[in-house]
Amino acid sequence: MFWRVLFFVACLLAGGSAGWFAALRSGIAATEWEGLAVGILFGGLVWFLIDWSRASRVLRWLRAGDVSEVAISTGLWGEVSARTRRLVLGRERQLRDSQNRLQDFLLAFQASPNGVMLLDAQGSIEWFNETAATHFGLDAQRDMLQHIGNLVREPGFVRYFAGHDYRDELLMPGRENTSARPVRLSVHLYPYGRGRLLLLSRDVTALEQADAMRRDFVANVSHEIRTPLTVLSGFVETLQTCALTEPERERYLALMAQQADRMQILVSDLLTLSRLEGSPPPGLSDWIAVPALMQQIEQDARALSAALNPAAQRVHALVFDYQAGGEIAGAGNELFSAMSNLVGNAIRYTPAGGDIVVRWLPLSDGRAEFSVTDTGPGIAPEHLPRLTERFYRVDHSRSRDTGGTGLGLAIVKHVAQRHGAELGIQSTPGKGSVFSIIFPAGRCRAQQLPAIS
Ligand code: ADP
Repeated sequence: MFWRVLFFVACLLAGGSAGWFAALRSGIAATEWEGLAVGILFGGLVWFLIDWSRASRVLRWLRAGDVSEVAISTGLWGEVSARTRRLVLGRERQLRDSQNRLQDFLLAFQASPNGVMLLDAQGSIEWFNETAATHFGLDAQRDMLQHIGNLVREPGFVRYFAGHDYRDELLMPGRENTSARPVRLSVHLYPYGRGRLLLLSRDVTALEQADAMRRDFVANVSHEIRTPLTVLSGFVETLQTCALTEPERERYLALMAQQADRMQILVSDLLTLSRLEGSPPPGLSDWIAVPALMQQIEQDARALSAALNPAAQRVHALVFDYQAGGEIAGAGNELFSAMSNLVGNAIRYTPAGGDIVVRWLPLSDGRAEFSVTDTGPGIAPEHLPRLTERFYRVDHSRSRDTGGTGLGLAIVKHVAQRHGAELGIQSTPGKGSVFSIIFPAGRCRAQQLPAIS
């Protein structure tokens, strides 16, 4: 300001003194005082023109809006443009910062495994992430700013949205829901700000399926236990109330023992399954000799075949085919349980006299295949995908009659998975079945390595 006043005064002084001397020298009919006054006026005019041109430059600069450089660097107008520039740059930085922060928030919402949608006070969609787009079948280009009620027409959701009571979540079918592939969503609306709504959606299909499986499982177990229990308590009542002959008593007691055995096998299979699910997979450090395993399985198999066919002339023709020296890394008790389950099934479902071949075959790529081939009734193709489900049975009565629990193949599947192996089932109705477990190369070796001394 000081320099501005100084420049103004200097202009007046310069103009005044120029007017004074001009009047003095020219000798025209004006006095020095008139020359001084005209000079001062002229000086003021010059100052005004210079100032006006500087102000115009600042104004043009402001209008152009390009603040990369100042319009003028000196004087009052210089300071005005410098301060304006600093202010604008500061605001631009603030705007950039808040835009970046908004982008970060949106990216975080985008990364969320849940669907996120923002609705304005009228219920129009302001923003949604990709998961929400998948859940509700939305398109980011087409559906932004549309009213949610026009896009999500599921009656349950329409009622929930219109009801304005958002304390609880809503369970509804997802956009891609079909009877073959159900999709269930949990949707929850949360009011925020001035009448706005945050919508969170979660795919709960797997959770609901697990819940249904758990319910089915409990129902199945209860049913399986209730049947022998009912029989048992019936016999107990008979023993308590009726006068029985000794042979009758013995027959009843034998039947009771049979039912108790059935329950025991069921509980033992259930415990095996829960142990398999709850423990870490077997490591690669314990090597089990295949011949010893096969001998043990063979012993049990021959005993089972004889026990199931006490009156038969011929039991099953059992062939065990394996070479000496094979080893497998894993849990011995699990492998025994899985393999003897397959052999047991072949014996239980193949009528007496049928052929059963149990084979351990090292494959050329280092893997090894355990297989059980029988000449039993075979299994129709529609049952094959469900055979490893718990309590799934093709032939209920034969399964029960031979002490089956419906859990055998579920155990086999678990053991195979835990050993990185594949369970294969091939079957032709009327001809027989082949159940195989192919173990990975990393778990098989041909001969025991010599110990390092
Ligand atoms: P279960 O204890 O009833 O044998 P599994 O899980 O071992 O239960 O087997 C499931 C069903 O698969 C059996 O109920 C039976 O119907 C069928 N199955 C299993 N193995 C054979 C086989 N070798 N031959 C024919 N059917 C079989």
